Amino acid sequence: MDANDRKARLEALRAELLERIQLYEAHQRRMTGALDKDMEEQAQEIENDEVVDLLDDEAREELDQIDKALARITANVGDRCEICGETIAPGRLVALPYTTRCVDCAIE
Ligand SMILES: [Zn+2]
Repeated sequence: MDANDRKARLEALRAELLERIQLYEAHQRRMTGALDKDMEEQAQEIENDEVVDLLDDEAREELDQIDKALARITANVGDRCEICGETIAPGRLVALPYTTRCVDCAIE
């Protein structure tokens, strides 16, 4: 994949993630209100909060990874593994445009 194509895909992913994070933040803000609910409802709400917190953390981690990949593309090392320095297989970059590691060094 062309570095510019990859950059465009990463930027689209990044925009999507930012939108998701905004939704999570809106949810988290709403949940700080209204304390006059019955216990069952409150318990459900706490559970939802935990799920949203988890999704929020995940989205922020993905965002960090995308930013890292974009920074490496800008530095002209976008197709190099950050661990061993070998070229990352083009097919891998198509499947995982945010990756910064070759298949041998990958932890996912
Ligand atoms: Zn490697």
